[in-house]
This record gives sequence, structure tokens and C-alpha cells, in this order.
Amino acid sequence: MYLCDLAPAHIRAIAPYQPGKPISELAREMGLAEGDIVKLASNENPLGISPKARAAIAECLDDLALYPDGNGYALKAAIAARLGVGLDAIVLGNGSNDVLELVARALLGPGTSAVYSEHAFAVYPLATQATGAVGISVPARAYGHDLAAMRDAIRDDTRVVFIANPNNPTGTLLGAEELHGFLASLPAQVAVVLDEAYGEFLDEDLRAPSVDWLAEFPNLILTRTFSKAYGLAGLRVGYALAHPEVADLLNRVRQPFNVNSLALAGAVAALGDSEFIAHSKAVNDAGMAQLLAGCARLGLKHIPSYGNFVCIDVGGDADAAMQVYQALLRKGVIVRPVANYGLPTFLRVSIGLPEQNARFLAVLAEVLEQA
Ligand SMILES: *Cc1c(COP(=O)(O)O)cnc(C)c1O
Repeated sequence: MYLCDLAPAHIRAIAPYQPGKPISELAREMGLAEGDIVKLASNENPLGISPKARAAIAECLDDLALYPDGNGYALKAAIAARLGVGLDAIVLGNGSNDVLELVARALLGPGTSAVYSEHAFAVYPLATQATGAVGISVPARAYGHDLAAMRDAIRDDTRVVFIANPNNPTGTLLGAEELHGFLASLPAQVAVVLDEAYGEFLDEDLRAPSVDWLAEFPNLILTRTFSKAYGLAGLRVGYALAHPEVADLLNRVRQPFNVNSLALAGAVAALGDSEFIAHSKAVNDAGMAQLLAGCARLGLKHIPSYGNFVCIDVGGDADAAMQVYQALLRKGVIVRPVANYGLPTFLRVSIGLPEQNARFLAVLAEVLEQA
């Protein structure tokens, strides 16, 4: 179509993000009852939403005729108090995906480049490409970020480096010392986005003191989300922490009301529900052990993961993995193929409740037996 042909070439070249299949869609396609479907495909919190967040959201319903607080004061104040940062260091987003795009829009464009790792989160190349910047994908090392190679890949026109820690979909983790050394080695004109979407699932001793690093590195941008451990994926809310001047820049390209009222209220309450976060982590730790034991019984390899998901190598080739994925779907279990991440023989499985993990393992065993 002529109209589309006139769109910039870098836009036409974009391959859209492939989300996990929604339960309602599979129910329609296969004629299954929604209640019989297990979705372990989008790293969502299997416990659902924190009860405190639910109550806070319910209280907001009467005010939905009003625009939200475009400044997100209450949520910023809650984040600032919890993390010991200034309100001016915080940028709120419609999910942290929004914040990643704000970074790209503010710092990238034609004639610039961004560096990220092979097998890293798909939004980095997408956000980069949408601005007309060049994306530089650096080969992974043991499925994770090769920081030395990423450092070497930085060019004069590089403005952003994206790092997910832990990474999705591989679940790999970089140590604090290694990350700190990387930050210290970078030129001032290169921003580092350190995406900590899964930080809450880490044991205390594995967490990098990344908030402290903000004072040391004005080019550091941290991103966090309420979609994973906090259980608010459907509300869409996340945030960035950055030097106040960088935060100001990002806020210039932000939609005035990018975070809705329910999300703002739910996030404030969720942030204060440390019991729920601790429970989410405990359920995840136990579920991870359960899934890994099941994989071992089936003789399947996996990539050791620090997130709320794990990539399992189902063997064979890309075609075989896709067939396993399809067979799981027919039996009402949704996982995530990751061929588009350069991992063609793997399936990424989110950690669920014990009975969901057991159902996945039982169905996987059936499917592999029939293959
Ligand atoms: C899920 C995820 C996000 C955030 O998603 P939002 O729902 O947009 O906050 C960000 N980064 C990584 C690596 C993720 O896996």
C-alpha cells in the first residue's frame, strides 16, 4: 500500500513484539475452558495481585472520571522514601517498557547507535529501531551479557547500552563487581540502562547496590517494574531512576498522563506490601526447584536462571521445539517459544504455583514421550 510505502524504512523493517498467547485466545482456538488452561508464558505473578493493591484500586474507582495525577506525586514519594532517592530522579512509565522507549526517544535517533546483547530482552532492539538508530547486538557468552565485548562494540555514535539483569529470556545474572567495572569503563556520553525487572527475585546477597551507583554514574539509568514480583502486569506501571537532568529529559518525551489512576494507586499500595513480595519470592524459589527437578527427571538441560522463569532445552531442532510448544498448547499449557531470541531449541517457562508447575511437567512428559 502506497501510504505504508512512504513510512520511514526503519519503521517498515520492524518485526513486532511477540507476546505470550493469552488464555482467552487459546480457549477460543482450541475450544477449551479458560479454567483448564495454564499460562506460564509471560513471567506473571502466579499469586495474582497483592491484597493491599486490590483494596487501593477498588477505592479509586469513583474517581475514574478525573485525569490521573500526571506527575504521579504519591507514587514518586513512595518510591523516593523506600529507595532514598529524590523525587526528581524518578520517571514513571506505562510499564517499564514505556520508560525504555522514553530513553530511546530522548537519546537515540538517526546517526546514533545502541548496544545490547544477543538473547537480551526484545524491547531493546524494537525501541532502538523505532527511532532510526542502529542496533548493535553483541554475541552472548554462556547465554549472558559479555560485558568486555559490549564495551568493545561501543562506537563514537553509541548513546545507549541496554543491560537486563537478570536477563529475560535467559535468566542470566551479572555480578555487582563486574557491572560496576563496566560502568566505570564507559565514556560519559553513553547512557547505560540497567533493567532490573526481576530484581525482587534475587537473594539479598546477589543484589547489586545499583541505586547507590546513581550518585557515582550520571549516565546510569535504572528501570524497574510492577509487572513481575509486584503482580500488576495488567495495570502497566514501571519507573526509571536517573540523574535529575536525565530524568527531566525523559519526562519531556513522556505522555502527560502515561500512568493511569488505578496503576498509580495500586503501585503505591503494592510497594508497601513487603509481605506479598517476600511470599512471591518464596513461591518462586520453591517453584524453580520443582521445575528443575522435573527437568532433571526428564533428562532435559536448562539455562540456570535468576528470574521467575527458566529456558528449557527440549532437544531436537527448531522445528521439534515448535512442535513441543504446539502440543503443549493443545493440552492447555501455554509456554513461550524463544526462537526469535536466537534460542530455537528452548522453551521459556514461567514459574507458576506448585500445581501449575506439576501440570506443565506432566504434560511435557506426555508430549515428549509421543514425539
Ligand atoms: C517484563 C520485562 C520488562 C517490563 O515489562 P513492563 O510490563 O513493561 O514493565 C522489562 N524488562 C524486562 C527484561 C522484562 O522481562
